[in-house]
Amino acid sequence: MTDTIKQPSPQAIAKKENAKLRAQQGLVSRVLHLRIKDKHANKLIELAREVNMVWNYVNDLSIRIFERERRFTQRSDLHAYTAGASKEGLRLHSQTIQAINEEYLTRRRQFKKIKLNWRTSNPKSARRSLGWIPFKSSALSYKGGQVRFCGEIISSWDSYGLANYVVDGELGPGNFSQDAKGRWYLNVTVQVKKKPKTTTPHDICESAIGIDLGLKEFLSCSDGQQVEAQQFYRNMEAKLATAQRAKKDKRVKAIHSKIANRRKDFLHKESTKLARNYQAIIVGDVNASGLAQTTMAKSVLDAGWSAFRTMLKYKCDDAGVWFREVNESYTTQECSHCGGRHGPKGRDELHVRAWTCCACGAHHDRDINAAKNIMVRGLGILQREFDEALEKMEQSAAADGNTSEPAVNKDSGTAHKCNAMAGVGHGPLAEGIPVL
Ligand SMILES: [Zn+2]
Repeated sequence: MTDTIKQPSPQAIAKKENAKLRAQQGLVSRVLHLRIKDKHANKLIELAREVNMVWNYVNDLSIRIFERERRFTQRSDLHAYTAGASKEGLRLHSQTIQAINEEYLTRRRQFKKIKLNWRTSNPKSARRSLGWIPFKSSALSYKGGQVRFCGEIISSWDSYGLANYVVDGELGPGNFSQDAKGRWYLNVTVQVKKKPKTTTPHDICESAIGIDLGLKEFLSCSDGQQVEAQQFYRNMEAKLATAQRAKKDKRVKAIHSKIANRRKDFLHKESTKLARNYQAIIVGDVNASGLAQTTMAKSVLDAGWSAFRTMLKYKCDDAGVWFREVNESYTTQECSHCGGRHGPKGRDELHVRAWTCCACGAHHDRDINAAKNIMVRGLGILQREFDEALEKMEQSAAADGNTSEPAVNKDSGTAHKCNAMAGVGHGPLAEGIPVL
């Protein structure tokens, strides 16, 4: 008997079908992360203790069944053994108990193990598990700015406006989780409607931006805007060292989470601003893990480039904005005006912040020039993708003997061509691209 044979269950098939349907309606799932007010901590700790009890019971049951019958417990076993537990003194909703069972089975399959770690509730134990309470969507209801769970009315700092995501009085499935500092969060899945993207290359070129990520300027844009890098870690380094020497563990944890929060806050603000203001955003694929091996490691890790790109990607996706990452090699060296490679080279010439092209005489800021090149590369990629899509549509229309117009306006595909890749280098850019 083995646990790893993959036969898609009816539930899995239904789940897949649902996902397909949602995608057709332009809906995507997002997990919202809300901080819960501290006054509810004790109640949640009590519930988390019950969750641990159920988890450990299920773990114990699985071990016994395996020893006795040489088989792995299935969902039906667990549900049968835990049915009625919520009436027998546990406060947990029966749906929550099922959610624990399912999470247990998922993890056991994932780690390919007969048993999983025990969950420890004792706050003084070094192996204490951070609080976790899963739920299914029907176990959580929303009313007047608060959520109701297990008979408890729970309020949070609702930075998302949860009310906008409630469908038929319900939110999606999710969990309550505790962090190392003992703060509680509500993580809940919701459906977000994606905005459709504009499909006319002309509109995209009108409102596109290229972004160069760097260490001195966190981001430099092709339109000349720059945002200075914030040194979240460096600013707190001295305080952190003091706390570490004094072996004040709580303080060390607090400082680390403060650094992480400040960085996240900064990245969220900057990415939101960009996704709101442009139709197409193109970012260089600067390789953080490569640079993290160098002497610049601290600054690189402090910058949070990967987290920034991830945020930007999903925010663009929701807002109907085109997003592309492009290869950024030589973008610093190339002159965005004539295309010659006369600019500063590599890390050795990092100190060169501005330069003049010896071929065409254009004067460049190092990073803004790179951002312009990045934008042009990205627009080139988008242009090619549009052309290919158009060609495919025309071919399939011809194959069908269909003489009607293709869905994308042919005129917008060719007449307003961005011309991003025109000529040597790319400048003076043709109509559609704003002159830089
Ligand atoms: Zn030049």
